[in-house]
Amino acid sequence: MKITKPHAAMFASPGMGHVIPVIELGKRLAGSHGFHVTIFVLEADAASAQSQFLNSPGCDATLVNVIGLPPPDISGLVDPSAFFGIKLLIMMRETIPILRSKIAEMQHKPTALIVDLFGMDALRLGDEFNMLTYIFIASNARFLAVALYFPTLEKDVEEEHIIKKKPLVLPGCEPVRFEDTLETFLDPTQQIYQEFVPFGLVFPTADGIIVNTWDDVEPKTLKSLQDPKLLGRITRVPVYPIGPLCRPVDPSKTNHPVLDWLNKQPDESVLYISFGSGGSLSAKQLAELAWGLELSGQRFVWVVRPPVDGSACSAYFSVNSGEIRDGTPDYLPKGFVSRTRERGLVVLSWAPQAEILAHQAVGGFLTHCGWNSILESVVSGVPMIAWPLFAEQMMNATLLKEELGIAVRSEKLPSEGVITRTEIEALVRRIMVEEEGCEMRKKVKKLQDTAEKSLSCDGGTAYESLSRITEESEHLLDRVRCMARGA
Ligand code: UDP
Repeated sequence: MKITKPHAAMFASPGMGHVIPVIELGKRLAGSHGFHVTIFVLEADAASAQSQFLNSPGCDATLVNVIGLPPPDISGLVDPSAFFGIKLLIMMRETIPILRSKIAEMQHKPTALIVDLFGMDALRLGDEFNMLTYIFIASNARFLAVALYFPTLEKDVEEEHIIKKKPLVLPGCEPVRFEDTLETFLDPTQQIYQEFVPFGLVFPTADGIIVNTWDDVEPKTLKSLQDPKLLGRITRVPVYPIGPLCRPVDPSKTNHPVLDWLNKQPDESVLYISFGSGGSLSAKQLAELAWGLELSGQRFVWVVRPPVDGSACSAYFSVNSGEIRDGTPDYLPKGFVSRTRERGLVVLSWAPQAEILAHQAVGGFLTHCGWNSILESVVSGVPMIAWPLFAEQMMNATLLKEELGIAVRSEKLPSEGVITRTEIEALVRRIMVEEEGCEMRKKVKKLQDTAEKSLSCDGGTAYESLSRITEESEHLLDRVRCMARGA
């Protein structure tokens, strides 16, 4: 077969927070950089948001070839109650033999293999098939810095942070407060620690690390990651900031009842509330949030799912909507929907989030601080109420509030206890009606401009990063062609 262009094979873990940015990265490599792109995604069940997304016009994956891989049976390998990150990791690991045989069957061999964080075990296929390898971090540079740095820490530094709860000092970056550290890094006796911490040592074995961020959002961390006197001595391979990668949307061209409702609301008057693709609240917290929204008197769209006591992330693998009586799901305060009908909309389980945030009627976002949600808010110029639940979301909330000044947040962390209705009411009013919210809106709109510049084909950093990756693949391709001619 005649090899005409570089070919990127991408290996994406299931879940919308991974699938959406991987598809967008693939579309950019194909659309603006001349790649042939094949994306391998673990199939989720047909009713899942992931399946519906991959088959919807909103996905628009016409530029890339998406291949579903059957999910392996991991029931004998992992405890059903294990953290969902462990399940993802083991599912991805068990899928590598199928990925290997799919790549072996390809006539047009990939020049580059791009794996996401949970698929890092697949990096070893790089040597086997003579492919360049890249790790794609669907999160930010701060997360990358912590993941890289943690396994290199001296024992006493680790103890200072984990036992004495002192901030973790990362060379050239803002320190990470103890309460912001990912649960992954806190208990060496846990499987999640044992699986993920050593991953930090694997990053430098790839040809590069692609991260969904840009300079104006994380200047210090990105600089440190590339400076050999700072974190660069650990990174050792190029870091390519390619963000913000978000699904391009046009709310005026999307049919959805929420968008019809938003069309009738004044500009920047609606608060959008969502905890990502699987975040959940306790029953008590859910009720307080409902009361807080009601007391605030503000307009809202709330993507709500049933409460889960004792876990903030157990809804990732099971989404159900609970029972609905009198228009109010049984887990919300009685009569909530009818009392707020004039100014609020409750959506069960799932909504077209990127389109909602891009709608001119939306003026604030109460978010669990998943990185994709934050990016979608920034590219739409919407300030946030940060409500982090788990993983790197606490670090993200600190970045939003303390470094970028584009979010408010509660006094204590949501994991430390129930946030009361009075505090929620005040947070909503601060972002939606008070001067503080107006100032944040101005700041986030400035950041929105920098996002556009980063993506511009005219010297934008994201575009330049992808151009460098393209050049590397083209060099490899030239070598392959030379070898083919010599043979
Ligand atoms: N999302 C959506 N509708 C929903 C909930 C989530 O479209 O009701 C999308 C959201 O726009 C984002 C992704 O799912 O692109 C969630 O990713 P994020 O990193 O914010 O959080 P995660 O779900 O990984 O915790």
